[in-house]
Amino acid sequence: MPDIQAVRPLSTPAVSPRVLVTAAGVVVLLLLLAYLVAFDQGAISQSGMYLHELMHDGRHLLGVPCH
Ligand SMILES: [Zn+2]
Repeated sequence: MPDIQAVRPLSTPAVSPRVLVTAAGVVVLLLLLAYLVAFDQGAISQSGMYLHELMHDGRHLLGVPCH
C-alpha cells in the first residue's frame, strides 16, 4: 500500500510563500545595492564623493561610466 502522506496534492504550490517572500527581499536588496553602486554621483551622499569612491570598482565592474 503506498504512503498517502508522501504524495503531494496537485493544489499545493511547489514553492512555499516563505521562500517567495525571502527571494523577493533578496531581489529588492540587490536592486538597492545596484542603485547605490551605479547611480551615486553625489546626489545621494552629501559628504562629497565618499560613497562614489567606495564603490568605484563595482561601478566599473557593472560597466557604468564615471570618468
Ligand atoms: Zn571610474
